[in-house]
Amino acid sequence: MTRVGIVGNGLAGVIAAKTLREAGFDGEIEIFAREKYPYYPRPNLIEHLAGRLPAERLFAFPESWYVERRIRVRLATPSRRILSEPLAVELSSGQRVEFDRLLLADGASCFIPPMAGADKKGVFSLRTWDDALSILEDLQDHRRVAVLGGGLLGLEIARALAARGASVRVVEFFDRLLPRQLDPQGAAVLRTQIEKSGIAVRLGIATEEIFGSDRVAGLKFKDGSAMDADMAIVAAGVRPNLDLAKDAGLAVERGVVVDDRLRTNRPGIFAAGDNTQHQGRLYGIIPAAFEQARAAAFNILDRDKAYRGTLPSNTLKVAGLSLTSVGEAVPEGGGVEEIRKEDPERGLYKKIVLKEGRLVGAIWMGTREGAPQVSKAVSQKADVSRWKKEILEDGFDFARLG
Ligand SMILES: Cc1cc2nc3c(=O)[nH]c(=O)nc-3n(C[C@H](O)[C@H](O)[C@H](O)COP(=O)(O)OP(=O)(O)OC[C@H]3O[C@@H](n4cnc5c(N)ncnc54)[C@H](O)[C@@H]3O)c2cc1C
Repeated sequence: MTRVGIVGNGLAGVIAAKTLREAGFDGEIEIFAREKYPYYPRPNLIEHLAGRLPAERLFAFPESWYVERRIRVRLATPSRRILSEPLAVELSSGQRVEFDRLLLADGASCFIPPMAGADKKGVFSLRTWDDALSILEDLQDHRRVAVLGGGLLGLEIARALAARGASVRVVEFFDRLLPRQLDPQGAAVLRTQIEKSGIAVRLGIATEEIFGSDRVAGLKFKDGSAMDADMAIVAAGVRPNLDLAKDAGLAVERGVVVDDRLRTNRPGIFAAGDNTQHQGRLYGIIPAAFEQARAAAFNILDRDKAYRGTLPSNTLKVAGLSLTSVGEAVPEGGGVEEIRKEDPERGLYKKIVLKEGRLVGAIWMGTREGAPQVSKAVSQKADVSRWKKEILEDGFDFARLG
């Protein structure tokens, strides 16, 4: 095996290439990148939007990084097709480049829900650096921003643009913020804090139309109400990029279906990252893309490495609040015990979720103290029945959790 091709120069593609070299692979590695920039971590886009990270510090590595590792990266060179016999990447020029193994790491794109006016000037989404540059350019003359989506990304964008002095309003379809990470009580505490920071929030409201002549003038909602805005940013989740996989005849459901070795149904083709569905699950988060890419690299080299899934865990800061939401933080089935402590004035909300005495989920908001230890205890499904009341108290000695 001498040639590995990687489609996608995001986290999954880059980590796979890095891991191949670290594992001693001496053959050729070639990455095909749609974007014209070398790898940058997407969370840096938020920092850049907020004005806290200058453009030159956006990138994770210096340009020499690829060269030193003998990784050939072909920027602004998207793969048009992947072919399985022989295994090859076809470029838009028609050129075909053959490989012994291929990793499909083409990630995901922003989902724009069907609504009238989504193609107007002043409507954006945020996935790439080019998106961030367009938003910043537009922001110079347009200061009233509506963010459609009160999930992690929507809140991060709202906070970043508010830091630039824009007037920001968040509109969320569900009846609470961060519906995937927070239960109603925690979301209410968060909302209070966000509003205190000057960002307005409207919940339980569906956008029907982005109105305006050729440019956004506001949003119209299904309940008949409306809101003025001269810029709209849609943060309604992402969808895996599946065109290449479908065209190549790979098994595809909501994502590219892989087994525990990150193998697709076609010999020699692996997948990892936001495009990938493992055991019925799509992740869309960095820890999963990272773990999948590492495991895929080892399996590409026939060094058996199983991937068994990633514990969803998110730590972010919104409106100055630190928030960790881990495991079954918002349990769907019954049979769980939930214990809470809240202090809305301080923006404090803590919750643990127990199943037969074992910790299966937690929310830790308003403090970082204990968050790493609690996350670890969730990942180990630790038996915390002895501490279940004390754990939520200030000053608990987390060393007791082992
Ligand atoms: C603003 C922002 C902030 C985020 N913050 C966090 C965070 O704090 N924590 C967290 O866990 N996750 C966060 N995420 C999600 C995280 O960035 C993704 O999980 C991660 O980027 C997935 O990496 P990936 O390589 O699978 O996909 P991507 O990052 O999408 O990379 C895929 C790459 O493939 C390229 N590509 C697509 N099609 C082709 C083609 N045909 N040919 C060649 N190249 C192609 C794309 O251009 C892209 O560069 C954030 C995302 C965004 C947008």
